[in-house]
Amino acid sequence: MLKSISIILVLLGMLALISALRSSISLYHKDRRPSTFSFIPVMLGFVLGYVVFTGYMAMMDKISVIEFVVSMVFFGGGIFCVMIFGVVSQSMERIAFAEFQQRHNESHDSLTGLPNRRFLLQTINQHIHDFETTQQRFGVATVDINNFNHINEVFGHQAGDSVLYQYSERLREFVEQDIFLARTSGNRFTFIINSPETTNVAHYIETIQSYLDHPQTINDHDVNLTNTIGVSLYPEHGSCSEDILKRSEIAMYSAKRIQVPYAVYEAASYRQLYDKVELAQMLQVAMVNMDFDLYFQPVLNVNASRKTTFEVLIRWPLGNGYTVSPDEFIPIAEQTNAIHQITRWVLQKTVAQLAEWADKGMAPHVQVNLSVRDIEDNSLEPFLRKLLRDYAIQPSQLTLEITETSMMQNPKKAQAVLEKIKTLGVSLSIDDFGTGFSSLSILSNMPIDEIKIDRSFVTDLLYSSNHEAIVRSTIYLAHSLDCSVVAEGVETEALGQYLMSIGCDKIQGFWYGRPMNLSQVDSWLNDVHVINNRVASQN
Ligand code: C2E
Ligand code: CA
Ligand code: CA
Repeated sequence: MLKSISIILVLLGMLALISALRSSISLYHKDRRPSTFSFIPVMLGFVLGYVVFTGYMAMMDKISVIEFVVSMVFFGGGIFCVMIFGVVSQSMERIAFAEFQQRHNESHDSLTGLPNRRFLLQTINQHIHDFETTQQRFGVATVDINNFNHINEVFGHQAGDSVLYQYSERLREFVEQDIFLARTSGNRFTFIINSPETTNVAHYIETIQSYLDHPQTINDHDVNLTNTIGVSLYPEHGSCSEDILKRSEIAMYSAKRIQVPYAVYEAASYRQLYDKVELAQMLQVAMVNMDFDLYFQPVLNVNASRKTTFEVLIRWPLGNGYTVSPDEFIPIAEQTNAIHQITRWVLQKTVAQLAEWADKGMAPHVQVNLSVRDIEDNSLEPFLRKLLRDYAIQPSQLTLEITETSMMQNPKKAQAVLEKIKTLGVSLSIDDFGTGFSSLSILSNMPIDEIKIDRSFVTDLLYSSNHEAIVRSTIYLAHSLDCSVVAEGVETEALGQYLMSIGCDKIQGFWYGRPMNLSQVDSWLNDVHVINNRVASQN
């Protein structure tokens, strides 16, 4: 009897020990430290001791009280090991979790949960390392939220944090899973563009920007945040992670300085890659197939918000990720006479687009830019007349913009050509008003319908009393000439609201909408169409 009890006790102790052995093996699998491994041979040694002792007792006829006590110790030893292992593995798990959290905190931002600058630099290093074998280029894009300190000043830091969190969520929503996105400092995010040679970088950045230009509600106020993006490319712009990141930030700062929404790092931008002569030659090639794109920037009609207006803006994509801005190539085209063909192409594409929209029951208003050379061109009016007739477009859907400076180069000639064009039924607008020193007498003789106040007066209106006075008096002047007024370059809601309060009729700028490509315009128009139909059916 005593023998059977002893054997059972030792066997139970051994089972407990085996379960402790299994825990130590699984702990080692997770932990992989030598100190954890050392438990395994010790446990195996114990199990062997239990087996030997059980065998010894099984061979004995009778066992003594001492052997019974020893078997109780074996039983207690097994149970003790299980308990100790329970405690050890729990502590190890806690340590492992704490270590994981520490590692995570060192590489992630606590507010948004995104990887931080350090982690980003490591990842860029990894991409640079991979480049040696895969030759896979990549880009780094830094997104800086414009005027973010105003949010903190006006709404407080807590609201600022919540805005940053929402912003990061929106960015995360946009970028695909395989894109590495980090928060690199206060109001700055950086992401990696994986294959810049197969991605149209300019288009990609523009799409992100229009996606991010989305109003956020802070303390019951709608706030529209705009951003500026700088892009650098590997291997063109640097050989180490710090340089690549720094150069995307430099590109972002230079975009801010020249007031464009985004910029690719200068050192190898097309400005440096190609000089003016090369650009002029490349332009000739681009003119063969007219390799240009049209973008459409929406304009808010303050007193008729259901009316849709777009300004048509030309772009020249070089096909290697760079896009030449019209400010860069229109002056070249003006010198080489290519401008006439470009203007006609823009007008033809725009009118054809209006016809396509008309087929879908949509009739937006569009504004097309003319060059100084076009207002010396007597054949523009018959060309436009034929175009409007061929596509059966309402001339009232079209406005032509002429800059104040070009109008002032030869006011008499400009007046004659514009008057002829005006007979077609299209509207005329003076662009970049305030930069061209026109006199009141010239202005009052021009057949114009609209004045667009130049961006340079609008942007700092809320901080410059001089510019405020200029804008107010321009609105007054325009209204006395029976012209409507457009303010350009409106980037914030505060500015938009103020301009509306002082009588501005139209607002154009990143606040209301950035220039969009055709598919973006189509979905914008569809949204407006649906809303208008809904409102019409309710009335
Ligand atoms: P613009 O006629 O004054 O056009 C407005 C410019 O301001 C556009 O630049 C637009 O992207 C930019 N912009 C709009 N809202 C904002 C804003 O809120 N903030 C800032 N910072 N910028 C804003 P883009 O497209 O680079 O065009 C530059 C200029 O090139 C135009 O100035 C226009 O003079 C000329 N241009 C554009 N397309 C054509 C065209 O088809 N023909 C001709 N002849 N000239 C064109
Ligand atoms: Ca314009
Ligand atoms: Ca303008």
